[in-house]
Amino acid sequence: MTARVSINSSECFACGLCYVLAPDVFVEGPEGKAELNPRYRSGSPYEGLVPDELVPEAVRGMMTCPVKAIDVVEEGA
Ligand code: SF4
Repeated sequence: MTARVSINSSECFACGLCYVLAPDVFVEGPEGKAELNPRYRSGSPYEGLVPDELVPEAVRGMMTCPVKAIDVVEEGA
């Protein structure tokens, strides 16, 4: 099972919580805004698929974002 992760960059205010607390999934981009780890991107820095073992970490990032700029949706196997 993978999960589709997306970051709404216009909502992100660069607090850094997601990439500090979930650093395998999120990375710091220009001006401190969150981007997806390049390894998991699909076309854009703001969305892609993460593997099963990183879904809990992706969810941790989503839960920690103060402005709910992160979405994680599990996809069928
Ligand atoms: S936790 Fe939210 S607001 Fe903070 S850097 Fe990550 S996406 Fe941006």
